[in-house]
Amino acid sequence: MIEVNRLTKIFPDGTRALSDVSVTIPDGDFVAIIGLSGAGKSTFLRCLNRLVDPTEGEVWVNGVNVAALKGAELRAYRRTVGFIFQQFNLVTRLTVLDNVLTGRLGYHPTWRGVLGLYREQDYAIARTYIRRVGLADKENTRVDQLSGGQQQRVAIARAMAQEPQLILADEPMASLDPRLSDVILGLLKEYNEEKGVTVLVNIHVLELARRYARRILAFNKGRLVFDGSVEELTPER
Ligand code: ADP
Ligand code: ADP
Repeated sequence: MIEVNRLTKIFPDGTRALSDVSVTIPDGDFVAIIGLSGAGKSTFLRCLNRLVDPTEGEVWVNGVNVAALKGAELRAYRRTVGFIFQQFNLVTRLTVLDNVLTGRLGYHPTWRGVLGLYREQDYAIARTYIRRVGLADKENTRVDQLSGGQQQRVAIARAMAQEPQLILADEPMASLDPRLSDVILGLLKEYNEEKGVTVLVNIHVLELARRYARRILAFNKGRLVFDGSVEELTPER
């Protein structure tokens, strides 16, 4: 369960990105976060894995006080959270397989020698998810030779290979052809239903949020202005 209590983020330049946000999300939910650009969606997700440090308030994830984590504890926590970025954030000179393997050891993948530490089981899990996202034939291809949509599928496989307790996806379709949105959201939805892993995804296209999410959080100017089921949203005009 995720419990966010009176979360506020004010950046050093004075920008108030989040104001007094409180929300509880049960395990296994599929949540779409909607709102205009600048509403605070990305900052909210980043506070959940501490890519952003909250200014005030609390973030609890399955009993862990995320805002208080430091050093090794913070790194260990982050390994339990799959984060999918708008711009993929892959290691461009590594292959699909090596990128997905980095999901097994954490966030310092560039040191190739480290690959010697992977076990057979890590390879098996990585390959399972590479197949799942439809890239089995690209396993040994460098990711910088792939299309944007393929790269985002690698990022999704990497997040799944982490076997995370939580997946956070920050507008994962935003830099892709809109036709790929269904592929990306479909993969996340399927994983959520199969594993019961909570997924939070920032989506700026309301129609997509309606189609995939069970629950919607809407932000406006840093405030949470709607929290409810898709059915509770007023019909699209
Ligand atoms: P988004 O697609 O979420 O709107 P932006 O283009 O606003 O992304 O932001 C891209 C990056 O720049 C993010 O890492 C964000 O934290 C950072 N950023 C956004 N606005 C500012 C700002 N006013 N000052 C400094 N960094 C910013
Ligand atoms: P969204 O994801 O909804 O587009 P963001 O969370 O990226 O919104 O941004 C919320 C507000 O915080 C915006 O005004 C943005 O410019 C600002 N912001 C984001 N990152 C930074 C940063 N690193 N420094 C200063 N302002 C930032």
